Amino acid sequence: MDLFEYQGKQLFATTGIPVPTGEVADTPEKARAAAERIGGKVVVKAQVQVGGRGKAGGIQLATTPDEAKAHATNILGMDIKGHVVERVWIEAASDIAKEYYASITFDRGAKRPLIMLSAEGGVDIETVAAETPEKLARLHVDPLTGFQAHHARWLAYHANIDEEAIKGVVDILQRLYTGFVQLDAMLMEINPLILTTDGRVIALDAKVTIDANALYRHADIAAMREATTQDPQEKMAQDRGVTYVKLDGDVGILGNGAGLVMSTLDVVALAGGKPANFLDAGGGSKADDVVTALEVLLSDPKVKSLLVNIFGGITRCDEVAEGLLTALDRLGATLPIVVRLDGTNEEEGRKIIAERAPANVVVEPTMLSAARRAVALAKEAA
Ligand code: GDP
Ligand code: MN
Repeated sequence: MDLFEYQGKQLFATTGIPVPTGEVADTPEKARAAAERIGGKVVVKAQVQVGGRGKAGGIQLATTPDEAKAHATNILGMDIKGHVVERVWIEAASDIAKEYYASITFDRGAKRPLIMLSAEGGVDIETVAAETPEKLARLHVDPLTGFQAHHARWLAYHANIDEEAIKGVVDILQRLYTGFVQLDAMLMEINPLILTTDGRVIALDAKVTIDANALYRHADIAAMREATTQDPQEKMAQDRGVTYVKLDGDVGILGNGAGLVMSTLDVVALAGGKPANFLDAGGGSKADDVVTALEVLLSDPKVKSLLVNIFGGITRCDEVAEGLLTALDRLGATLPIVVRLDGTNEEEGRKIIAERAPANVVVEPTMLSAARRAVALAKEAA
């Protein structure tokens, strides 16, 4: 789960990493009030999960609360590389002497966390890594012995960090590693990590990814998820606990089991179509699960036809068919739905649909014929 900058900074603050004082705002008026409380010069920062906000005009300096309000008016609603700004973060402006880069990620190849530090921060770090790799100090951490102060000093030395910043950088790296482990993070990146003109080292940006499978032990971070998902279907799926992915075509896909769903995507592509989304209703899909799944899939206006591809193992095809009827009854969907049922109780399932389903539901015997039909129907409807 990717966090917004303001959420990352809130986590940094709890681990003792210095960050500028700030507040989040979703209206220009709240931005003005926040700037007034913070006092002095502030920076108004677009909260979107994409880099290069500065260049896109999403980061503005304000000397008065009224100016902060004016910037917030411009930035809220702005489209930055396809991400619409719904919130701004207002923070006390910093006077920058130097911009560094610090991060911790997992190096899956080495099976260890990897800490990277560079005195060349504030820029695209991939460029530094590609063109001047010697300027990026790298260190793998042995998770058993942990990350020690001498490791942090080694990194600071090899990254050529300025003398007066070393103490602050070493302290932040250690806290970053502690936070990384405690919060079950996959990524923690500070770009830029700055040295201020008055000699303090602080995190000016925060990019944090938390392992979604560990959220059950971090209720506070799980609660942040509310703000991270804007897509209405994805939010609906999250609330209902189903696996849903949005794509950009027009054929909705419902399958049971990750493998089957993946092959369904391929077969739709083979049939010349494009999936609008897919939903994995899971292994033992019951009638209620089908209702939930259809609710999510059909709420996406881009779906022009729906392909239901079920392989009955533990899942019984007659139960899925019943679920489908219940869902259609409740939702009153009129778009074309193509159903392929195979496996346990397939005969019963097909019979239920043939006898009782509305006319917009058709059954196809194979995955390929079902995909072809769904693609053709989507094209007709478009
Ligand atoms: P990103 O470009 O989306 O990663 O946004 P950042 O938060 O990293 O900010 C981009 C750049 O804006 C930084 O590298 C700084 O140069 C500048 N910036 C951000 N906050 C401040 C601030 O408080 N004072 C000054 N002088 N510059 C800032
Ligand atoms: Mn940045």
